[in-house]
Amino acid sequence: MSKKIRRGSSRYSSRRRKCEDGDLLPSAPPLEILDTVVGYEDLSFDAVCVPPPEPCIGDFGMLDPEQQMLGTWAPYPEYSLRTIIPHSCQVSEAAARSALTAYVKNHCCWGVGAARNMSVTSIRQNCAYHYILQTFTEKREARWAWAPHVGGDADGPDQGAAPSPWDLPASPSKPFHSEVKVIEVPHTASVKPCHRCRGTGTMACPSCHGKGFTRCLACQGEGWGLGSESRERCIVCGSSSHGHGRQDCNRCGAKGRVACPVCDSYGQLKCFIQLTVSWKVNVGEYITGGDEVPHDLLRQADGQIGIEETGIRVAPLPSDIVSDETLAMASAQLISEHFQVSSNALLLAQRHQVRVVPITTLHYRWKNHDGTYFVYGLDKKVHAPDYPQTCCCGCIIL
Ligand SMILES: [Zn+2]
Ligand SMILES: [Zn+2]
Ligand SMILES: [Zn+2]
Repeated sequence: MSKKIRRGSSRYSSRRRKCEDGDLLPSAPPLEILDTVVGYEDLSFDAVCVPPPEPCIGDFGMLDPEQQMLGTWAPYPEYSLRTIIPHSCQVSEAAARSALTAYVKNHCCWGVGAARNMSVTSIRQNCAYHYILQTFTEKREARWAWAPHVGGDADGPDQGAAPSPWDLPASPSKPFHSEVKVIEVPHTASVKPCHRCRGTGTMACPSCHGKGFTRCLACQGEGWGLGSESRERCIVCGSSSHGHGRQDCNRCGAKGRVACPVCDSYGQLKCFIQLTVSWKVNVGEYITGGDEVPHDLLRQADGQIGIEETGIRVAPLPSDIVSDETLAMASAQLISEHFQVSSNALLLAQRHQVRVVPITTLHYRWKNHDGTYFVYGLDKKVHAPDYPQTCCCGCIIL
């Protein structure tokens, strides 16, 4: 089931650039000389995204429309979001103080006195929910490409029909891993003369403009040693193969022509259709319930996996199993956004998870200062935005 590929405005076909030897030459083979390949009729040298084929009725058998929809969804797993912080995650006042003391000691200018002597006025256990949605997609783009033709037979249309872009087998090296593979579409190759050197394999040397020599700078092209009373020959150009006053061009070895860089001096190019397959992991996330701990910190903190599900498609989190109703709304919103992102790509798989990050909030008093600090994550990290002793000389000590 091939989709017709529409021709975009080509960057290559109309643009001509002035070459160093003064000729105006195309920067790509002219589209007119390329063969017509069934299924790729209007392709140019610009990459064109090929949308995946629509699922046909055969993919779902004889299911009714509602079942067809459900058929593409992974079954609901047994959810168990732990909204109660496990006992091991409870942080006692003593453990919090020791985490704070270690945190303060890591800041060379901070005083540890406040951490040791502060009185904790309240302690509260809470947790943040970090929802992560990953959508793994595949995109396919086609374009004409060329490479030097080093000999042998090209795999052309006489070898068989070219497979349509989505019929070519290609798979990622592992799921949920972004990567790109470039594939030559079988039976699309043909051999054409090189557009840059017109099939000769060489082009005029850009240093000497094809002459094989440049004017000798040592003698200003005169051929005689400057200031020489005895009229001695110039030692720089004296042995030039192009005569006195002319210096052999080093770049082309005095021949005036250099190898064509486009065809690698073979004179001929293999033109073929190239398919670029890109796999991408699209990530969406949402954090809720983190008190005043910045999201960047919560993202890095160790958490406990509360919910985890992988499928061809995942369904939004059911609102009755998550204690924070914004989680279910964010999940539905992100899943819907990912469907729009992947409109030109094939959705291969989805997975989502909720990480639960425990947070202990401690209010304290030290001298006349009232403050708050947080111990968060299974690894007991500390966030103390208003710690009172942040200078070693004690100038902020109240
Ligand atoms: Zn060439
Ligand atoms: Zn030259
Ligand atoms: Zn000279």
